[in-house]
Amino acid sequence: MVKWVIGNWKMNGLSGSLEEAAKIAEGAGAHSASVVSMVCPPATLLARMAEKCAGSALSVGGQDCHAAEAGAHTGDVSAEMLVDAGAVAVILGHSERRTDHAETSGQVKAKTEAAWRAGLTPIVCVGETEAERDAGKAEAVVEAQLAESLPDILPAQQREDLIVAYEPVWAIGTGRVPTEADIAAMHLKVRQHLEARYGQPGRTVPILYGGSMKPDNAASIMKIANVDGGLVGGASLKADSFLAIASAGATAANG
Ligand code: PEP
Repeated sequence: MVKWVIGNWKMNGLSGSLEEAAKIAEGAGAHSASVVSMVCPPATLLARMAEKCAGSALSVGGQDCHAAEAGAHTGDVSAEMLVDAGAVAVILGHSERRTDHAETSGQVKAKTEAAWRAGLTPIVCVGETEAERDAGKAEAVVEAQLAESLPDILPAQQREDLIVAYEPVWAIGTGRVPTEADIAAMHLKVRQHLEARYGQPGRTVPILYGGSMKPDNAASIMKIANVDGGLVGGASLKADSFLAIASAGATAANG
């Protein structure tokens, strides 16, 4: 099965960073048979990055979108605008947006529908905080986020219609990673939710792991059952580490 390596650049990157993206695009071709490579840069770089990477094995995505198509929403960007800029996907419900912007699962659901309306693949993020895990509530929290963030009906029966990213909040940017057993258990729960919700198509929706994925742990994480790739923050900013993770993905995909 193909693996996905999706870089989340967050609020990082100026014009000079386009060279780094070009290096990622050049190297991604070596793994394109078994790894789908994508970078989600800040909105200011999206169109230029899409142009620079056109025709390469690297696609680009957005980091958020508004639920509406257009209108009086100062500072926001619609899913249609992301498509216009060259995006093929959009990260939705990242824990930093849920925390910094008090984004609710209901809003994430509306944005997921907006992504479909515009023809983007939504990458819907879920994950528990450390306190929730310590309280033994991790699976219940993720289950509730999935129930409330995902629309009830998939628009068509193709795997690219939806990607889910399991990102334990306490693992993001901390260098801490759950045990392989904990990742396996949560990804199985997510898979069971998707199957119960969507039937057969739910079996092939990619489920990515996110949270301190690095070149040295990527291969072992991506070999875990129901882990279809990684949503990668810090390690996606440099071509060397992005490509090392893509190479690990290729190993996991072919192993
Ligand atoms: C993220 O923010 O989606 C993420 C996984 O970050 P990091 O890889 O830096 O932990």
